[in-house]
Amino acid sequence: MVCKNKEITILREFQSRNEGLKHLQKMTLEQKINLSKNLILNCIETFGDQKVYISFSGGKDSAVLSSLACSLKPSILHLFSDTGCEYPETLAFIEAERQRGKNIVSVYPICRDGSMWTFERIVATYGYPLFSKAIANGIRTYRHAKTPITKQHALDYLARMYPKALSYLDCNISDLCCEKLKKSPLKRTARHMQMQCSIIGTLAEESQIRKRDWITYGSNIFFQKKDNQCRPLSFWTSQDIWSYIKLYRLPISILYNQGYKRNGCMYCGFGVCSERRKFGINRFERLAQTHPQQYKYMVSRWASLFKECGIPY
Ligand code: SF4
Repeated sequence: MVCKNKEITILREFQSRNEGLKHLQKMTLEQKINLSKNLILNCIETFGDQKVYISFSGGKDSAVLSSLACSLKPSILHLFSDTGCEYPETLAFIEAERQRGKNIVSVYPICRDGSMWTFERIVATYGYPLFSKAIANGIRTYRHAKTPITKQHALDYLARMYPKALSYLDCNISDLCCEKLKKSPLKRTARHMQMQCSIIGTLAEESQIRKRDWITYGSNIFFQKKDNQCRPLSFWTSQDIWSYIKLYRLPISILYNQGYKRNGCMYCGFGVCSERRKFGINRFERLAQTHPQQYKYMVSRWASLFKECGIPY
């Protein structure tokens, strides 16, 4: 029996999907858990339980996603992208989850010629992931444009959307890191294992892009884009994630006890600029306190770039 997507049924009651999202976000935790499980079930029944996988980062949202999915299918495959610049606490958490019986396969960023991509090699080859993906994309396009028209378009885009970024046009910045270290290896492995749909733990409230994407497609995007995706936590808030963790005493990485708001990669510069304003300290400054060895390595390589770009470290 195919499980109907309840989210679509609920959304029919609303004039706009924006209103529908607000309604879903206001539901109780119990209602959200039920709806999320229904979305995962819908995914499993559409593609088969051997053809879907959890995109697992080792962060708190991923931990909740894994808990919900494992309550339906305990042996469900988790693919973890080990970028080589994960916090040691993330790797320890992944190992602990394996010990608790989770089916986790690590994926590594191996180049077509068999060599390994490292963060340092990515920065040397393409540029540092700094500011935001959109800004880094604009700067990379400007710096490596093949035609004067492309260069001008990149310049116009940055001037219109991010005028401050015009000061950093000569800096070695790029948006390609995630593609090379994370997304491509994950997709290649999933293809190799004949997976048909990824289950990911993103929240619509995280960014305008994610919200707009949910409004267009909803949580389960099947047979619409190149890749099928199930995003059953889309309408959860960060507060819901913490409530679930507390309610079910869910183990999470100890990184969160050290003041970190998210796991991710140790040297990633995406989003770093707004952290001081929000939290009084940015992730690089925190790294100096919690992981002095890794901090020393980072500064020895990229302090001049941080200075050039006005990033406190
Ligand atoms: S999170 Fe940042 S450092 Fe990690 S792979 Fe993506 S861009 Fe690179």
